[in-house]
Amino acid sequence: MPENKIYDYLIIGQGLAGSLLAWRLINEGKSVCVLDDGHASSSSMVAAGVINPLAGKRFNHSPHVHVWLEAVGATYTQLSRLAKQPFLQWVDMLRLFREKDQHRYYERLSGQENIQDLFGSVFAPGHPPQPVAAPLGGFVQKRTGYVRIPSLLAFLADWLKARQALEIASVDSEDISVDDHGVRYGRLRAGGIIFCDGYRSMKNPWFGYLPFAPDKGEILTLQARPGSGQLPDMIINAATWLLPVDNGAFRLGSTHNHRIQDNQPAAEGVQALLEGMSRLLDHPELLTLEKSEAGVRPATSDRQPFLGTHPAHPQLHIFNGFGAHGSLTIPWYSQQMTAFLLEGKTLPENADIKRFAWR
Ligand SMILES: Cc1cc2nc3c(=O)[nH]c(=O)nc-3n(C[C@H](O)[C@H](O)[C@H](O)COP(=O)(O)OP(=O)(O)OC[C@H]3O[C@@H](n4cnc5c(N)ncnc54)[C@H](O)[C@@H]3O)c2cc1C
Repeated sequence: MPENKIYDYLIIGQGLAGSLLAWRLINEGKSVCVLDDGHASSSSMVAAGVINPLAGKRFNHSPHVHVWLEAVGATYTQLSRLAKQPFLQWVDMLRLFREKDQHRYYERLSGQENIQDLFGSVFAPGHPPQPVAAPLGGFVQKRTGYVRIPSLLAFLADWLKARQALEIASVDSEDISVDDHGVRYGRLRAGGIIFCDGYRSMKNPWFGYLPFAPDKGEILTLQARPGSGQLPDMIINAATWLLPVDNGAFRLGSTHNHRIQDNQPAAEGVQALLEGMSRLLDHPELLTLEKSEAGVRPATSDRQPFLGTHPAHPQLHIFNGFGAHGSLTIPWYSQQMTAFLLEGKTLPENADIKRFAWR
């Protein structure tokens, strides 16, 4: 790094949040240095990257759903063009009802004019258009897909390195000093620092007051036996979900555990996923387990992200808390955060950390 340089921003964390925010700030002419510890605690690197605007068994959707989807299309397409590789894949999702009530939720929502584009055809119990068990029926969900996050992060790491904007370092907050002129970390000086460090922000001396609710998850990679034609080619979503990815591979996910924070896949989690798959597929024997992984989602108690500036230290910012939906939401929120930092625009109320009292 150049001697005596004063960056506009240091960013801690090169996950999806830190990467997209750094990319936007640099494109706006700001000087940025991203510090990451080689993805030691990365949620992004294990995530399947599924884009699903209808969350949970009630198919909840945010009022932001269409701006999120617009930013998803624009952002990943722009990056794909730059990298000359496809990071975003749209694939329909087969939503299987698990409870009788879900048919009612479906009926209510699919009739709402503003979200009709999210719903495809409904199918009767026992007649799914894919080789899966669907005793209660279900429907086809549109505008879903997935992001190849590890490839995208590898591309953005190279893009940052080419601009001398990435350093591999494990940052200890005790080594960060804050004064009226900005921040200092070792020999690096900057006007401000932005924490994009995932669930580890909960140990942060400045932002630890925010109500993080870290959520550990296991996820599996499976490989189809050669010539297996009887496997789904859509995303299948019941309690367990299955995602067909590249070259006959599938991702199977994912578990939730709010008590443990490590990235070691637990045997019970792996077992629960494999059992879920056996109940889901007509031919589970066609898939063999290749890899099990785990990570901790940077989830929050009110399920909304944490964006903003520290109430007492205008040099300290946070862009975090994307929980289980970062691939869908980070493109839009990184636009909002950039406009907030550079133009003083107001943050979306649901995401602004001003909603929490500082203790
Ligand atoms: C099993 C599983 C499946 C998931 N599936 C999906 C999915 O299908 N779709 C979806 O949208 N989301 C999914 N997610 C959630 C998704 O991973 C997150 O929403 C998103 O990736 C969070 O990105 P982030 O950049 O905020 O955090 P992270 O990806 O955790 O990035 C933080 C980075 O900061 C680094 N870091 C932390 N502290 C320091 C430090 N002190 N010094 C230096 N570096 C540091 C970490 O090592 C890491 O590289 C899943 C998560 C898990 C665990």
